[in-house]
Amino acid sequence: MKNIIIVGGGLAGLVASILLARKGIKVTLIEKKTYPFHRVCGEYISNETLPFLLSQNLFPKEFKLPVISTFQLSSAAGKSSMLALDLGGFGISRFSFDHFLYEEAKKSGVNFLLNDEVTSILFDEDEFHVQSNNKTLTADLVLCAFGKRSKLDLEFKRNFVNKRSPYVGVKYHIKTDHPDHLIALHNFEGGYCGISNIEGSKTNLCYLVHREKLRQSGSIENLEKKVLKKNPLLRDIFENSDFLFDKPETINEISFETKEPVFNHLLMLGDAAGMITPLCGNGMAMAIRSAKLAAELIADFCNNSITRRQLEKKYTAIWKKEFASHLWFGRQVQKLFGNEFVSNIAVNLPIHSKFIANQIVKNTHGNPF
Ligand SMILES: Cc1cc2nc3c(=O)[nH]c(=O)nc-3n(C[C@H](O)[C@H](O)[C@H](O)COP(=O)(O)OP(=O)(O)OC[C@H]3O[C@@H](n4cnc5c(N)ncnc54)[C@H](O)[C@@H]3O)c2cc1C
Repeated sequence: MKNIIIVGGGLAGLVASILLARKGIKVTLIEKKTYPFHRVCGEYISNETLPFLLSQNLFPKEFKLPVISTFQLSSAAGKSSMLALDLGGFGISRFSFDHFLYEEAKKSGVNFLLNDEVTSILFDEDEFHVQSNNKTLTADLVLCAFGKRSKLDLEFKRNFVNKRSPYVGVKYHIKTDHPDHLIALHNFEGGYCGISNIEGSKTNLCYLVHREKLRQSGSIENLEKKVLKKNPLLRDIFENSDFLFDKPETINEISFETKEPVFNHLLMLGDAAGMITPLCGNGMAMAIRSAKLAAELIADFCNNSITRRQLEKKYTAIWKKEFASHLWFGRQVQKLFGNEFVSNIAVNLPIHSKFIANQIVKNTHGNPF
């Protein structure tokens, strides 16, 4: 019987582990943190995931989740427009959703090594040797679901790590007066800030900012005071909300560079294979979809219907077909944001051409699966 190791327990790793374990495959998931924990994320999940989550009993029904159907876009100067979303989505914190999936994975028979970081992976004689802080394990197949940038990417010398990423992400949970149906994207000089509701009548406020803008401001507090609050819509939110964290969650080195879906016989899932720009609100759906696609092929590999070579070839082909154009489109759309002049033009799109605006949303999303 083949055994699988998954490195990283975000959405991609957790969903893949559940699907494989439910097929009777032996799965060990190694995650460097312990659940539940907060992550920097806008926490808006596209409804394209709904049929899959419902059919696999992975939709967290016990939470009353906000249904999101309208998009508001504001320019750095605060001019705004609205767009009804064809597909829409729902809001849930990663704290709750990842924890829910972790519990489901345990029920499905996944073996977890938590608080343990994988430091190297070697492929030798058709077998993987996985070294973590606590153990050395062997596996027939290793899935890398370690997110946008891991120390392992440096260890593997993947091409994209040579380019420094200019972006920093900041997240808060707040209590504020924000309608459930609305996801807002407010521009400011050097970045953009998403606002949408999650479970428990809370609101996620998450922004992406150019590292240079943060450096010039000196601190997150100054950045918010001097830059974000120049957008009157953001100023209103910052000045009329209760901030629920002691300090914001932050991440850096956010890269949208092209990556490989298979590297040294390792199957890459979610952000490890390629990260879509956050303004598309589709990274989580892509992580879940990549886990589903990989799990279907891995089942064939485990029952010897396909060879390792066929698995790698098929996964590469299907990954490129499903995601490559969305990632490219996301990179182009990103250029419309974070600049006063360009964001003023972008904000007119939903007003003057709902068709083009909808096409942009469509091109960064997949069909429901
Ligand atoms: C600012 C911002 C806002 C966003 N907003 C949205 C949004 O609103 N909607 C949306 O759909 N997407 C959004 N995204 C994108 C979304 O967060 C990601 O696409 C998604 O989290 C990818 O899931 P993943 O499972 O690939 O990786 P992750 O969720 O990042 O999980 C990777 C896991 O691997 C673990 N790990 C890493 N290295 C190791 C190691 N060596 N050993 C063991 N464990 C390891 C990490 O601890 C982590 O738990 C946003 C991203 C950013 C940066």
